[in-house]
Amino acid sequence: MSGKLFDKVAILGLGLIGSSLAHGLKQKGIAARVVGSDASPEVRTRAREIGLGDEIAETAVEAVTDADLVILSVPVGAMGDVANAMVPGLSPETIVTDVGGVKAAVIAAIEKALPKENAFVPGHPIAGTEYSGPDSGFGTLFEGRWAILTPSARTTDAALGKVTAMWEALGSDVETMSPAHHDIVLATTSHLPHLIAFNIVGTAADMEEVTQSEVIKFSAGGFRDFTRIASSDPVMWRDIFLNNKEAVLEMLGRFSEDLAALQRMIRWEDGEALHALFTRTRAIRRGIIEAGQETAAPDFGRQPQAPQAAGGGEPAEAEAKKPARLAEKG
Ligand code: NAP
Repeated sequence: MSGKLFDKVAILGLGLIGSSLAHGLKQKGIAARVVGSDASPEVRTRAREIGLGDEIAETAVEAVTDADLVILSVPVGAMGDVANAMVPGLSPETIVTDVGGVKAAVIAAIEKALPKENAFVPGHPIAGTEYSGPDSGFGTLFEGRWAILTPSARTTDAALGKVTAMWEALGSDVETMSPAHHDIVLATTSHLPHLIAFNIVGTAADMEEVTQSEVIKFSAGGFRDFTRIASSDPVMWRDIFLNNKEAVLEMLGRFSEDLAALQRMIRWEDGEALHALFTRTRAIRRGIIEAGQETAAPDFGRQPQAPQAAGGGEPAEAEAKKPARLAEKG
């Protein structure tokens, strides 16, 4: 017994979220021992080079052996496979949690693999950046952000209490809701905005009358903020849309109707309706700033910075201050 919240935490998947957890759990003294693993040999090698956690195990089974908590931090579509792969190493007391950006489908996949004795606490930190890979993590990522927990039939009170305590010790505020509610809320606040960003950047790239160099040169007119979102990890986002299909299609239907209404306002030169809508949307941004989820600084608080040395995407700009409140991505 180490006197810490956890004696050994295993993290499977050492990308942005997994590596941020490894840093945070050590830096804040939440776990006596942090052992990571990843399916990719390159990621394991890099994680050892940068000294992530106490040890990087070759296999999931090795990583989870004797762990009191396992955190699954792989793309949503890989959760079931990783859960299956680790099962032989689990002891009945091990608590399992995840950080997937979709809940209902992930819960079904993980619970199918988990032995009956293991408590499972589905979770999703509302924190992220557009970067991926083991170099992109930092221990303060979760500070001042929400962590959503979506208890299932396999969640015990004791396990929920420990996972809640972990997120709070990482600096997050914890909110509990049903998996279905999570999926519709996130379809609204994260998945649909990402879909719009992917689409708008794709549309601009296909324009014939406007050259690529003009798109880049004059990007500050709004396009640039969409490119930041649209540079997010392709695997992660493919999996999110395939696994939260119903909620995303529902939101997309509403969005299309509202877009058609906007189209009509422009066609009929209904300036009053346009002004009323833009006034309403402006108030929503003010509310987000007041809630401490964004800064009011010019350029949304972000300044251009050189791309990171490693870690997946290479967007032209990034958050200047990593620990600052960042756009949620998953
Ligand atoms: P990431 O940076 O792309 O990292 C994912 C890691 O998992 C990669 O190292 C990947 O290796 C590894 N991996 C993929 N398949 C695997 C498998 N079958 N077994 C073991 N490792 C595997 O992704 P991330 O941003 O950390 O996202 C991880 C999870 O967090 C996702 O479920 C996502 O929905 C959730 N999340 C993300 C954010 C965000 O902003 N990024 C926010 C909240 C929650 P390879 O690179 O070799 O494939």
